[in-house]
Amino acid sequence: MNADGGGDRFDRQRRISGWDQRRLEKATVVVVGVGALGSEVAKNLALAGVGRLILCDPDTVAPSNLSRMALVGDGDVGRSKAEAVSRALRGLHPGGRAESRTADLVTGVGLGELADADVVLGCLDSRGARLRLLGRCALVDATLIDGGTEPWGGEVRLRRTADEPCYSCALPAGDRSTGDQPWSCQDLAEAGPAASSIASTALIASWMSLAALRVLLGLPVPYSLLRVDAPTGVSTPVAVRRDPDCPRHRPLGEPVGTLSVSCRATVGELLTLLEPDEEPLSWTEFVVTRACPSCGHYAEKRRINSTPLDIDDLSCHQCGCLVRPGYSQRLRMADQDARLDALGIAPEEILSVRRPEGGYAWRRLER
Ligand SMILES: [Zn+2]
Ligand SMILES: [Zn+2]
Repeated sequence: MNADGGGDRFDRQRRISGWDQRRLEKATVVVVGVGALGSEVAKNLALAGVGRLILCDPDTVAPSNLSRMALVGDGDVGRSKAEAVSRALRGLHPGGRAESRTADLVTGVGLGELADADVVLGCLDSRGARLRLLGRCALVDATLIDGGTEPWGGEVRLRRTADEPCYSCALPAGDRSTGDQPWSCQDLAEAGPAASSIASTALIASWMSLAALRVLLGLPVPYSLLRVDAPTGVSTPVAVRRDPDCPRHRPLGEPVGTLSVSCRATVGELLTLLEPDEEPLSWTEFVVTRACPSCGHYAEKRRINSTPLDIDDLSCHQCGCLVRPGYSQRLRMADQDARLDALGIAPEEILSVRRPEGGYAWRRLER
């Protein structure tokens, strides 16, 4: 018998008061942003035995990630972060599931998945992306733990329900609106890559992991915002106030109905489930073509099925000139043969459907 006392792989943590390994095995955690912080958090939760992890990130591994991501190596440069990390996690917790979504947070993880997750972890490094995730979590009242790193410390924010104060409450109103740029472009537009090292990343990831495990185990976490400062050796819970004008506190009001298709179905298959005058909407815009500015040919039958754009899809079929695309969120504007996921609709998304008499209904896609 060795000094650790043998036992199974979780033997030591089972000895922690209040621990329940079965509860962790049944849990689903969504990790949004799988860079340095997200991969470190995901590593901790996989090693602890969390049963299902959904990892979402549109980016690929860059050489500058390698000094802060233990789970990827030189051979992963250029590959999807979400895929590379989820592959590594399967080795850390063979009984668990790790699913990768190479997409941004709106098109990668549906509102239904956020609603069902036991915890959502925000590991994002731009204000715009943090606000978008905060808003999505508020719509379905999901528990969000959001982390941010600084060169020598950082912060962890916990919001259990949409009623509680949030990151956006503390921002001036003008900073609360988010741009429509893709996630990566937004990061660069803000300030360029942030200064960071694995030491502060691992520190904040550990605080986030401890908070997530306590939430999953049903143990109290008394703070909403924790500031961690390495130079002074102090971690401080900070009181945060709810701003009544902050918009990110409104869950979807009505009961959510279902639609018996998944995001792999086509627009046509979705429309057969709706009344002819009901208007289903996506959460992000997709591309539709317009009339050609040179010859006037209108590409009625040639709407674009996918993003990113294919240059052939943008050429006029009559005169060959490029036609500037238009954008829409109305799914009736899309090609009937287009798949919903190709238009940016996430798995188990909850779509808003505009009713002919006014107002909206919420309808959730199947898994
Ligand atoms: Zn708020
Ligand atoms: Zn033309």
